Amino acid sequence: MTTTAIRLADIVVPGPFAGPLSYRIPDNMTPDIGTRCQVPLRNKTVVGIVVARRDADERDKLDKLKPIDALLDQQPLLDSALLQVAQWMSRYYLYDAASAYLLALPALLRNGEAAELVTEARVELTVAGEHLDADQLKGKRQREALHWLQTHGAATPSELRRHGIERTHWRALVEKRFAQEVALSTESRQPSGQLRQDPLTLNTDQRSALDQLSHDTFNVLLLEGVTGSGKTEVYLQAMARTLAAGKRVLVLVPEIGLTPQTLERFQKRFADELVALHSGLTDKERHNAWLQAQHGEAAIVVGTRSAVLTPLPDLGLIVIDEEHDASFKQQDTLRYHARDVAIFRANQAGIPVILGSATPSLESLHNARNGRYRHAVLNERAGGRSRPQLETVDMRRQQHEHGMSERLRLRIGEHLAQGQQVLLFLNRRGYAPSWFCSACGWMADCPFCDSRLTYHRGRHQTICHHCGYQSRPETVCPDCGSHELMPLGAGTERAEEALEQWFPQVPIIRFDRDAITTADALNRQLERTRDAGPAILVGTQMLAKGHHFEKVTLVGILDLDAGLFSADFRSRERTGQLLVQVAGRAGRGDAAGEVLLQSWHPDHPFFEPLLKQDYQRFSDQLLSERQPAGLPPYGFLACLRSDSAYPQQAEALLAEMADYLLQQTGIRVFGPLPAILSRRAGKHRFVLVVQSDKRSQLHNALEPLVRHYPRQQRGLSWHLDIDPLETL
Ligand SMILES: [Zn+2]
Ligand SMILES: [Zn+2]
Repeated sequence: MTTTAIRLADIVVPGPFAGPLSYRIPDNMTPDIGTRCQVPLRNKTVVGIVVARRDADERDKLDKLKPIDALLDQQPLLDSALLQVAQWMSRYYLYDAASAYLLALPALLRNGEAAELVTEARVELTVAGEHLDADQLKGKRQREALHWLQTHGAATPSELRRHGIERTHWRALVEKRFAQEVALSTESRQPSGQLRQDPLTLNTDQRSALDQLSHDTFNVLLLEGVTGSGKTEVYLQAMARTLAAGKRVLVLVPEIGLTPQTLERFQKRFADELVALHSGLTDKERHNAWLQAQHGEAAIVVGTRSAVLTPLPDLGLIVIDEEHDASFKQQDTLRYHARDVAIFRANQAGIPVILGSATPSLESLHNARNGRYRHAVLNERAGGRSRPQLETVDMRRQQHEHGMSERLRLRIGEHLAQGQQVLLFLNRRGYAPSWFCSACGWMADCPFCDSRLTYHRGRHQTICHHCGYQSRPETVCPDCGSHELMPLGAGTERAEEALEQWFPQVPIIRFDRDAITTADALNRQLERTRDAGPAILVGTQMLAKGHHFEKVTLVGILDLDAGLFSADFRSRERTGQLLVQVAGRAGRGDAAGEVLLQSWHPDHPFFEPLLKQDYQRFSDQLLSERQPAGLPPYGFLACLRSDSAYPQQAEALLAEMADYLLQQTGIRVFGPLPAILSRRAGKHRFVLVVQSDKRSQLHNALEPLVRHYPRQQRGLSWHLDIDPLETL
């Protein structure tokens, strides 16, 4: 009697399963690894991904295993390299495997849509259209459509609609044979590296940066350079080399950085096909762009965080612009960091990575110092322009109203009178603030340890995040007797309204999350700024990103103290990065720039390297503080967070976890403590910080918790954040 082995497939399916589930393979089916299939799960049918194929052995409970219903793909959608990346993400971030694998697929494919282009044609100009002078067209809207296509190249109808160009307008161009509709294709095309525009001549710094990058092996180049120092040209020339070798390039940019201008720089330079992947795309567009990348039609993919898992045949280079940017970290479900995932992916593939930033993260600087990364610094500002003048304004010695000093107010008036634009930066991030006296600058300290107390607005309490001491905030300043005590940073809340009264004659252009929610909205504000005469730009973190404000000659920073004195270990790094980036907005045009920084503690040692805009010395200083504390990049952190309608329940869960963790080797815990946003949507939130000097000890200690506690039960939920960006 002969026995044929029973064939099984291990398939990842959506749901909180630690690993893949096994299914029987029907006789007539050969599911390849990386293909999708339909499988029964409980009483539903779901889409899963085949991750392994094997013969059944004695451990399989064959009578319980169900067969695969149907195979959805003839060809694998994800290659083994990407499957390995997903597997690593699941292990590293201690999150279920299915989420990691499914993250690699766009929504339509996750839902079982066929892996074919969803038919949407693309509108592109004909040769006649490319050379047409817009004035020869009658309709204003037609002229706009023509101008847009001449500047940006081909686009899908939905993309055009997002830019305010309706069907009737581009259809008119098609009827006149100035444009045509072309079907998208997924034909694989060998990248050529052919240039549409000559490269710029590199200066010595740029040349040596480019020379440091090896093209045929895994290596990471940290490219550090202030705004305007020419990082992009280094990216472009490294990309040209990769494309010319017939390989493809993945470029990751921060969420708000994917503007039409960013894409234009790549499109203008390279003849090779480029696709963009960002959160503004419709599901169909994302599906199409993903397939174009997967089939090798696109030679360049430019995308935000989740694009890190885009399949690209013959991937030869990954570029991460603004590598320090917080938007690369996913803040829910699988909390991965796209930079770290990209580096793992490049390592597996044996290809180079460029990390670019004016203000690199301490993690990357540390890796550069210990030789794991190569490090190139671009010192020159383009055109040899000098850096702007940076000066502090001592708030203790100034008249001030709504957080604006007399001195800054006067300078604003003077710059506006000269026809210049002024940029005011408000720090609106939810920094955990200190409790402070706005008369003398006193700040509340913990009576039991060296830490500063953190003010929790919801509870109206000051809490020490180091030892857990909790108290009511002081009402009278122990130093000067004043009653004007408040959370640090609160003084500027009404600054914007005050500006309208003080400077009624100039427009106030806002850049913040409320005014701007999409890259297009940002673009409109940027255009408005370019066209405006004297104006005041008011904004938050968003203003710090590398936008060009040619007419800005004065930058006023109302309040950075809150970020510098926060109990969150990363907030000072972030604040220093912000200061450097915001200061970089001044004096980019012909006029010299001036930066005024208001502070209650202008003589504090933090400011010294920052005022000289010496980011290297600033980061060295921070690194030397983190080392003895065992904080990243010297030690490793995780945060456990819980929430529940009942505070005791949320706190008790973390307390139980803390007890367990303390019995494990090499683990320190802080908390549980109320989270800084302690109540959200009626839920009470708590946080437990877990620290270890060894990555493996941290993982070993946490892994059993993930297996033991369901993520959600009876109104209580919790999650784990490995390498958290915030700990409060
Ligand atoms: Zn005081
Ligand atoms: Zn304390």
